Amino acid sequence: MDQTETTVVAVHSVGTDAVALELATPEGFSALPGQFVRLGVEVDGEVESRFYTLSSPDADDTLEVTLTYDPESVVGKRLAGLEVEDTVTVAGPFGDAHYDGEPHALVLAGGPGVGAAVGIAERALSEGNDATVVYRDDDPLHESRLSTLSEAGATVTLVSTDENLTRALAETAGDEQAFVYGFADFVEQATEALAEHGFDTDAAKVESFGPAPE
Ligand SMILES: Cc1cc2nc3c(=O)[nH]c(=O)nc-3n(C[C@H](O)[C@H](O)[C@H](O)COP(=O)(O)OP(=O)(O)OC[C@H]3O[C@@H](n4cnc5c(N)ncnc54)[C@H](O)[C@@H]3O)c2cc1C
Repeated sequence: MDQTETTVVAVHSVGTDAVALELATPEGFSALPGQFVRLGVEVDGEVESRFYTLSSPDADDTLEVTLTYDPESVVGKRLAGLEVEDTVTVAGPFGDAHYDGEPHALVLAGGPGVGAAVGIAERALSEGNDATVVYRDDDPLHESRLSTLSEAGATVTLVSTDENLTRALAETAGDEQAFVYGFADFVEQATEALAEHGFDTDAAKVESFGPAPE
């Protein structure tokens, strides 16, 4: 969909310097968890845009993205400071690395990539499928949605940034559909870990958020 304007429905804190931003779904827009959108917001009189991945299980009435920011960030900090009824521009969806009804989704997520993980896992469970989330972060986001997922039958493993992903993948069967979301260094390590565990990494659905912020 071409760029259009939409309104903020809610802004929830989901951890340290992290928010889930819920937007009204523009008419004619549809997206699947794992796809991303381009959000634009006015910063010092100019519209600045960045890409953000869906963190909701669908985009039926509203769509949600999850973002982290710090005091230096231009767009992230501005989006996190928005209030209900403020407007942003949205374009998309983009990307093929989305959930597609697979019977068992294995989602490897680093940092704000956990947004895609919760969206995909919630969608998988709602369709009667299985989900495993391996999430690497020292200061986890979305803890309440992750524990709800765990109670609903998903396998959720939290890994710290000084640990590799091998332990978390030890329990996998090898026939899951693998998904990977996060900044480039995480994506590289997660893809290597999948290969070590016998996954066909060409078949994995992978979205890199680009170079990690300094
Ligand atoms: C396909 C794709 C999907 C993406 N999906 C997501 C997503 O779902 N969630 C998400 O958060 N990002 C996502 N990104 C990254 C996002 O588009 C921005 O690049 C990122 O949020 C930084 O933009 P900014 O304007 O906040 O900071 P910028 O103004 O671009 O960065 C300026 C400086 O701010 C600092 N900074 C910015 N962000 C952080 C941070 N999180 N922690 C510490 N320092 C920081 C760094 O010092 C950085 O050098 C995605 C990117 C791509 C390409």
